[in-house]
Amino acid sequence: MSTSRFPTADVSSLQDMLVEYLVGEARRLSEAEETNLVAVSLGAAIDAGTGRIVGASPLWGPTEPLDFDLYGRVVDALPACSWTIENDLTAAALGVAMRPEFAALRRLAVVAVGSGLAMRTIEPGSGRISMSKHSGLQGEIGHLPASFAFGEGGWSVRCPCGGFNHLSSFASGQGIAYLLKELGNAGCEWLARDPTPAQLSRAVRAANPEAREFLDAITDPLAQALLAVLAIDAEVERLVLVGGVVDGLGDAYMRSLLTNMSRHGLYGSRLKSPADFAEIVCQAPAHPSPMLFGAASAAWSLHGPEAGAYTRR
Ligand SMILES: [Zn+2]
Repeated sequence: MSTSRFPTADVSSLQDMLVEYLVGEARRLSEAEETNLVAVSLGAAIDAGTGRIVGASPLWGPTEPLDFDLYGRVVDALPACSWTIENDLTAAALGVAMRPEFAALRRLAVVAVGSGLAMRTIEPGSGRISMSKHSGLQGEIGHLPASFAFGEGGWSVRCPCGGFNHLSSFASGQGIAYLLKELGNAGCEWLARDPTPAQLSRAVRAANPEAREFLDAITDPLAQALLAVLAIDAEVERLVLVGGVVDGLGDAYMRSLLTNMSRHGLYGSRLKSPADFAEIVCQAPAHPSPMLFGAASAAWSLHGPEAGAYTRR
């Protein structure tokens, strides 16, 4: 249902395909599992006020601002099911905040580094996720200006949203895949004619110094963004990373990110060394998926037997 999978399909066709896929899966699973509760975690910017999709560049590439009522479409197509559609970051925040080790925190931020890149803060005690009055969104850090230097110097790279030199241009899965392709075209040896994230992961694991240097270059803009989060919001007590890029590169990714955070430093903070930053910046376990777990818990709280006992906005 994405531009990368169906490059010739227009956005409206991709949206139709998404509706068809979700309705088909909901039919199949609701019969198999004997439930009418359907929870969807979707990698698209969803206006929390209207529930409509306003942007989805990782799925549908650069578009004008969207106003797509996915919820309305699936409810019309399959009204027998009780649908809950959450942005994947909101779902991940709900899933992560339910972990007992985070229960006493004032606020935590979940940072997803997958095909896209975004962040969501949540207050675990109440489940409150604040949203902007102006956009119904929160934490779209992937489209903030950023810079990237590797090899000969700075790069200018188009972001999946259509802009240039955004954090996602360099640090998201799609951004990293593009940078690797460019390095492959330039004959980069450690990519061994396989300029893919899988080869990056292999080369990093084999401690190839240039691959490690590239890893440090792609974690650097994110390190700077996370330091800004900590500097601006004093109540963020933990930054929890999720998503395919973090899972794929694992410990080496976290070490590189923490080292860059320590290298830049946080003015006046007691957090100095990578080990200090490791106390507040961590990776969430990939299983169970915090996104699916969070979306399911949202569906349960909205439509389950105790619906209404818990509100989060
Ligand atoms: Zn962008």
